[in-house]
Amino acid sequence: MTENSTTGRSTIIASQNAITVIGRLAVVGAGLAGLTVAHKLRAAGVEVTLFEKARGPGGRMASTRVGSKSQSAIDIGAQYFTIRNPAFREFLTRQAGTDCWGPWHGRFRYQNTDKQWEMMRPAERYVGIPRMSAITRTLSGGLSVHNGVQVDGLWRSDNGCWVLTDTEGSRHEGFDAVILTAPPAQAIALLRRGDARALAEEEQLQVSRMRACWAVAAYFPEGAGADFEALMPNQSLLDWAANNSSKPGRNGAGEWWVLHGDPDWSDEHTEADPQQVAGELVQELQKVGDITAVPTEIQVHRWLYARARESNRTGHLWHPDHRIAIIGDWLDGGRVEGAFNSADGLVSRLVSEGWVPQRG
Ligand SMILES: Cc1cc2nc3c(=O)[nH]c(=O)nc-3n(C[C@H](O)[C@H](O)[C@H](O)COP(=O)(O)OP(=O)(O)OC[C@H]3O[C@@H](n4cnc5c(N)ncnc54)[C@H](O)[C@@H]3O)c2cc1C
Repeated sequence: MTENSTTGRSTIIASQNAITVIGRLAVVGAGLAGLTVAHKLRAAGVEVTLFEKARGPGGRMASTRVGSKSQSAIDIGAQYFTIRNPAFREFLTRQAGTDCWGPWHGRFRYQNTDKQWEMMRPAERYVGIPRMSAITRTLSGGLSVHNGVQVDGLWRSDNGCWVLTDTEGSRHEGFDAVILTAPPAQAIALLRRGDARALAEEEQLQVSRMRACWAVAAYFPEGAGADFEALMPNQSLLDWAANNSSKPGRNGAGEWWVLHGDPDWSDEHTEADPQQVAGELVQELQKVGDITAVPTEIQVHRWLYARARESNRTGHLWHPDHRIAIIGDWLDGGRVEGAFNSADGLVSRLVSEGWVPQRG
């Protein structure tokens, strides 16, 4: 039986099944959604273990080392985030402090529907300091995170607990519940392997696809000579360009710019040659941004699952009969704040329905 946060069927199901409080929990994925749910449920008395397939936490709030000389790290995924929900600010301040994130006062230039350039009104936009991944690094401190572990199956043991298997052949046993935070295609692949495969066929998972994004980091040793910090063209293969060096706490000479390909264009060119992709995006920046400077170093990254295709507001999915939850930005409007909201919504639900011991 599938439930989402809007159906209100949960109370009936919970009362049909005897609720056993969740004592040990596995969280697959240590992006913002996974880290948020881990902190909040740990505070509520749950023993939480996170499994992350990458070498470190962060997910799409990713930064990557660039530059042979400058030793900078640039934000290759999420560029900035909003804080509209006061609970998000409260969570960040409490769990990450206030040193590793702060406002970015970049000037944003965008092209309107008539292809005229305008400046966006100043708004509150936040970034990690000195890099986006500083936030998730800080949040992961004190949590039990197994980095470099790709979970590949969920199995029920004889005592009803969940066993997670990974791609190295290891078994991780004894979990009362599992929370998946991977983008939908990866969550489906995981559910298909094991004793929860019926969940993979659920409508919510099938319809939510993600779009790709080519990301290019380009270094201009003398600066790019632009009078803006971010550029958002309209009807261009370039979706976004930003002077990463203008964000707070970024040191080093010259300017690193981050260019993101348009989602449709990126989807159509997922198998393109990275050097060619970089060349086309840099050329487009020079053309639409009126920039004559030439970059001397280039780094390219391909995101296969960057942003949600549909605007899904389900919030989270909770399957009480399986004790499996699915959360993530794609279930709450996309974006960084959506990842937090999705996790926060699930925690409130689990607490109010008595699945966890107490509110922390
Ligand atoms: C190019 C790009 C630009 C963006 N720009 C912005 C922006 O400017 N502003 C904004 O608000 N948002 C932006 N976003 C979106 C933002 O990054 C996401 O909304 C947010 O980071 C999602 O967090 P999450 O925890 O839901 O998912 P993720 O960060 O994707 O975390 C999921 C984690 O699960 C791990 N995982 C997956 N499968 C497994 C497995 N089988 N075993 C173990 N681990 C697994 C992954 O490695 C990952 O770390 C951007 C994203 C991209 C890619």
